[in-house]
Amino acid sequence: MNVQLSDTASRRAIAILPDSLINKIAAGEVVERPASVIKELLENSIDAAATRISVVVQDGGRTLMRITDNGCGMSEEDARLAFARHATSKIRDVDDLFSIQTLGFRGEALASVAGVSHATLITRRPTDAGGIRLDASESVIGEPIPCAAAVGTTIEVRDLFYCVPARRKFLRSDATEFGHIHDMVLRSALAQPDIAFTLEHNGRKVLELPAVTDTAERIAAAIDKDLRGRLLPIHHEDAAARITGFIGVPETARGTNRHEFIFLNGRYIRDRSMLHAMKEAYRGLIDPHQHPVAILYVEMDPAAFDVNVHPQKTEVRFRDANIPFRMVLGALRQKLLQTDLTPPASLNPDSSTTSTPPLRTPAPVRTSSLDETRQVLAEFFRQPPIQPQPALPLRGPGESPSIAPAADSMPPVVAEPVPSVEEETTAREPMPPIVAPALNIKCIQLHNRYIVAEDDQGIVLIDQHALHERILYEELLSRVRKGPLESQRLLLPVMVEVNDRQANNLERVRPTLEKLGIEINRFDAQSVAVQGLPPLLARLDAGAFIRLLLDYLDEADCNIGDEALLHEILDMASCKAAIKAGDPLSATEIDALLIRRHEIERSSNCPHGRPTTVRLSFAQLEKQFKRR
Ligand code: ADP
Ligand code: MG
Repeated sequence: MNVQLSDTASRRAIAILPDSLINKIAAGEVVERPASVIKELLENSIDAAATRISVVVQDGGRTLMRITDNGCGMSEEDARLAFARHATSKIRDVDDLFSIQTLGFRGEALASVAGVSHATLITRRPTDAGGIRLDASESVIGEPIPCAAAVGTTIEVRDLFYCVPARRKFLRSDATEFGHIHDMVLRSALAQPDIAFTLEHNGRKVLELPAVTDTAERIAAAIDKDLRGRLLPIHHEDAAARITGFIGVPETARGTNRHEFIFLNGRYIRDRSMLHAMKEAYRGLIDPHQHPVAILYVEMDPAAFDVNVHPQKTEVRFRDANIPFRMVLGALRQKLLQTDLTPPASLNPDSSTTSTPPLRTPAPVRTSSLDETRQVLAEFFRQPPIQPQPALPLRGPGESPSIAPAADSMPPVVAEPVPSVEEETTAREPMPPIVAPALNIKCIQLHNRYIVAEDDQGIVLIDQHALHERILYEELLSRVRKGPLESQRLLLPVMVEVNDRQANNLERVRPTLEKLGIEINRFDAQSVAVQGLPPLLARLDAGAFIRLLLDYLDEADCNIGDEALLHEILDMASCKAAIKAGDPLSATEIDALLIRRHEIERSSNCPHGRPTTVRLSFAQLEKQFKRR
């Protein structure tokens, strides 16, 4: 398109813009919405060494925002200058610009704010007998008048954008605008646990955060009380950086990434690679669609990155782009691996699984029938009601009985001959508690679905399918890291019907499948044949697996990376190869599961992030039995 300047425009003489207009233009940059004002004012209060900051907002900030701090205050002279453009007490020369310690330093925030609102400043230094008050509106700065005031500074901003209708039009609903304000206060509160914050909207207290020395307590108070006792401390230090902070245990994960915070040298930033690393560290511990709670404080040599100097931007550019990712992943991964993440069993029937409420006595259990008992148990463990199901043989009909486990690759669960369905339901006596020799712990399978075992902290309840799935996943992953898995030919290939597109999709992922020792070939125009599987996947329901994979590939992003694809396929394969709920297990099989549980990483959760195990601790049990 050809844009031409109009004649009038090109003939206009150059003129120096009046201050009021400059301020409005600058305001466009600095003040995008009410939350940007809050951000600037919070930064000023923090720079003024305040230990208490209160924020009062009305109507999403559009009619009123008032920030009060108990910081150093301003002299009359400084107060006059505060609203002037490029007035700052924070830099004097170019050197200062590069050694800046404070948050704001461009000296234009207050001028910009005053350019697009009715602003009032009330301030008093500790040494002054009284305060002064100064009004500024559309860049007209009034005369300071003496007034009564507490030590510190209050800045009131009314009717934001009253003189810039174009801006006002772009404001969203009060709730949305307030949401942004809330985020800003949250960021400051997380960065500064030693400062007390309050936030009020339309007369309602939204945040009330006393100053604390314990950052974890601030995080829980600011984000969610349920995080108390469920945050893991992070501490990592190397030549490049230091990372401290807290991350939530897997069951605190959220559907939103709003609870991932990174502060770089005290400044809130949003860095894609670090956010990605956070998620990656939790891979397999939480549902892939969820996000962890993580608050990280990163300290780095300022020479190692560039802060985008635009006041609203939160991005930074690192000299070595790989460092932040590696560091965050390493720090979090190490913490998650060394922590026993088995969630405690929650005995409160009406609580959600994402919170650990104080234990309450469950409703009295009167068990008149087996069904009722099942119902109570199901509720107890918050699982769908247990349907009496026929026991499944360990090998599905479509699977190959021809694979013998290779000598060097004991399958995680020893596949030994299992009684047929009829024998199982009629003849089997309740399984007596068994002592697993290698672990020397007592355990039992219940409802062909759960394994109950003792451990040194109490009783663990294990979902057999979830645990086996996790075991397979980890074993496959660690094997495939060392090189392609060996494939063993099936005696009878498993046939799956496909259309052309599906066949092409399968062709695309063939290299990954081959790495895993899964051999698939086109059989004829309408079908493919699974011809080989690795011993570890001896129990794979190949048909179900391929159908799952086809569905996935139908919807998957064509550009999915090799690594992500590998994890997806591992997910599906381990799910379809794992023992199922309803499969009766022999004593040896249970032992094998429990032994593996201790050996593998992240055994507390299945690859989809659901827990494999819950624990009833001695403390919980004693409380339930009223011994304490
Ligand atoms: P900057 O923060 O970039 O210096 P501002 O326009 O935000 O610019 O503020 C201008 C000046 O006003 C600051 O440098 C500081 O001296 C003073 N000031 C602003 N807010 C406060 C406050 N809450 N307490 C004390 N001084 C303040
Ligand atoms: Mg400032």
